[in-house]
Amino acid sequence: METQELQREIRRLKEEKNAVILAHYYQRPEVQDIADFVGDSLELSREAATAPHNIILFCGVTFMAEIAKTISPQKTVLIPYPGAGCILADMAFPKEIEEAKGRHPRAKVIAYVNTHAQVKAMADIICTSANAREVMEKTPGDEIIFLPDRNLGAYHARSLKGKRVILWNGYCPVHQTITLQTIEMVKEKHPQALVVVHPECPPEVTERADFVGSTSQLVRFVEESDAQSFIVGTEEGTLHQMRKKAPEKELLLPDPVPLCHQMKMITLERVHKALKDEVYRVEVEEDIRRKAEKAIRKMLELR
Ligand code: SF4
Repeated sequence: METQELQREIRRLKEEKNAVILAHYYQRPEVQDIADFVGDSLELSREAATAPHNIILFCGVTFMAEIAKTISPQKTVLIPYPGAGCILADMAFPKEIEEAKGRHPRAKVIAYVNTHAQVKAMADIICTSANAREVMEKTPGDEIIFLPDRNLGAYHARSLKGKRVILWNGYCPVHQTITLQTIEMVKEKHPQALVVVHPECPPEVTERADFVGSTSQLVRFVEESDAQSFIVGTEEGTLHQMRKKAPEKELLLPDPVPLCHQMKMITLERVHKALKDEVYRVEVEEDIRRKAEKAIRKMLELR
């Protein structure tokens, strides 16, 4: 089927089955275009928690679909390609966390949303890149184990007062490829461009940036800023919404282009099959689900 025909058929199936399609900013443009809601992890978690539909079709990586199932266990949650994992989430496992807790018994565990459900179940609270700072500040006690993204943790720990932050040694390989050198190479040719980056980028990049924020915060910044030109330090899919919201702005990417191959595993063909056949169902073991839900809801209740 051609792209438009597939999109039409997906929209028809969506109505017929009372399904909602949630898509992350890093999805392919044609997938974002059939979604009911495009957002970052925090926004998508909130949307999944309140969606009145029978079926949630999640266009993203597996941990995101797991969150939807964790907070809406009565609903059918589908992911079009169950092999779409997150390499960062694969950097923290329960046994290592148990050991870290043993070494730091007073510390509260803050798990970034990019973790498996078993890891969330061991955390005191979850955070996303949009609210990590707030979660760190509001978590009681003076010691935090922050996992798994060392760059996001270090970015906020720099200015956090009165708390010791123990950083995990994980990182997102996509944002790790964004270096000071690759940013400066673009800046040399476009000296007027503002540098806007995601906090998963290495510390020397976030220090150099004019603005640091989650994907939705970056989209909003580009849309609302008076500047005309931006060097964008995050996954390239984000530019699709930036172009829609601010078509007159110049958007530049570092070379190599930051691209998450896991996110791009979700294609229109797979979305179509997922809706038509109601596959692949996401399940989370009940004991883990209940514990993970508690940590996620603590985050969602923060205002
Ligand atoms: S961009 Fe990085 S953190 Fe996000 S899903 Fe891909 S590997 Fe995981």
